[in-house]
Amino acid sequence: MRETKADRRRLGLYLHVPFCKNKCAYCDFYSFVPKEEGVMERYVAALIKHIESYKASIADYAPDTVFIGGGTPTALPLESLLSVIRAVKRNYSLTKTCEFTVEANPATVDLKGLKRLRRAGVNRLSMGLQSADDNELAALSRIHRRADFEEAYFAARDAKIGNINVDVMYGIPGQTVESCLATLEYVCDLAPEHISFYNLKIEQGTPFWRMRESLSLPGEDAEYEMYVRGVEYLASRGYNQYEISNFARPGYRCLHNLKYWNCDEYLGLGPGAHSFFNGTRFSIFRDAERYMRSMESPSSNIRIIESSEEVKTRERIGEYVMLRMRLTDGVSDREFRRLFGRDFEAMYGRLLAKYQRGGFVIRRPDGWAFTPRGMFVSNFILSDILDFSDTDIFDPTN
Ligand code: SF4
Repeated sequence: MRETKADRRRLGLYLHVPFCKNKCAYCDFYSFVPKEEGVMERYVAALIKHIESYKASIADYAPDTVFIGGGTPTALPLESLLSVIRAVKRNYSLTKTCEFTVEANPATVDLKGLKRLRRAGVNRLSMGLQSADDNELAALSRIHRRADFEEAYFAARDAKIGNINVDVMYGIPGQTVESCLATLEYVCDLAPEHISFYNLKIEQGTPFWRMRESLSLPGEDAEYEMYVRGVEYLASRGYNQYEISNFARPGYRCLHNLKYWNCDEYLGLGPGAHSFFNGTRFSIFRDAERYMRSMESPSSNIRIIESSEEVKTRERIGEYVMLRMRLTDGVSDREFRRLFGRDFEAMYGRLLAKYQRGGFVIRRPDGWAFTPRGMFVSNFILSDILDFSDTDIFDPTN
């Protein structure tokens, strides 16, 4: 019998674009400001070759999510970005309802370009606002101001993009609980379908790390209040929390990111991208030059895979717990038993009960989940209950 698209396995596809117009002082994603003329076009040619090279391996799959992230995909010349989108559609059998996201910095999009992205098949835009306060944006060294964001947001609506995510950050230098809630109010008034509300982390190796003693950060108590009051506020405006940092109107959870948290398969292409494909987890070196040279001369045997490992049951269990507990649905006893043939309650119940008493986790009829209070300190709790919680698999580009 002939196999149809509906029979094929599902897959999330991630494509990394490592370019930005300016490097934000807090950012540790793999991205840089290109210095050489023509490097973006060269990179896009390499990425397209990489996309083509997987055509046969994913012939049995029908990708149902595509996420072009970075860096700033919209920092690419429009024609280059469109050629990446066309290469994906030409080489892979995307499902009809495929969620197709492009990340955008508000200072790098306009109506004409957004209309062309929409026509090419992009149906979701993820926009980094971070704050509606221009002083906070300056403190983050973002290249846009609130007015730029607003213009870009309305341009996306005019381009008929019906699914928009807005990134909002808390814990910004100089931010107060009031200014944080004012940003959320501003964003909710615009009525995007999805909001990511996440904590600024001072990552090693960034300019913020070097300046960390002199940054006027809000402090843990204020950040806790921003988070807990932020979660409450978002709920009051119809945004349901489904993950530590993610909130959506009904029907608009990010299907691509859910693949990471649900331990589903995803393939990441481009330097720094991570994959979980065919039972193997692997990542690509965070080195664009090496990546381009490898794609330009396949016979040179330049290795681009940094690490590759078959995921053993013990690790799969740890990853599953770590990722599932990020979701408000938490871990289900029944599903855990089906996947691993083991009793979740027996393995983790006693450890979690300790946090239940403090109001950080709740026992549900069929499993465990964090409370909003527990979400705020989830890393701490997970590292207490798991042996290998330092595996960084949440973000595919980290
Ligand atoms: S935060 Fe986004 S725009 Fe800023 S440097 Fe990082 S990837 Fe680029």
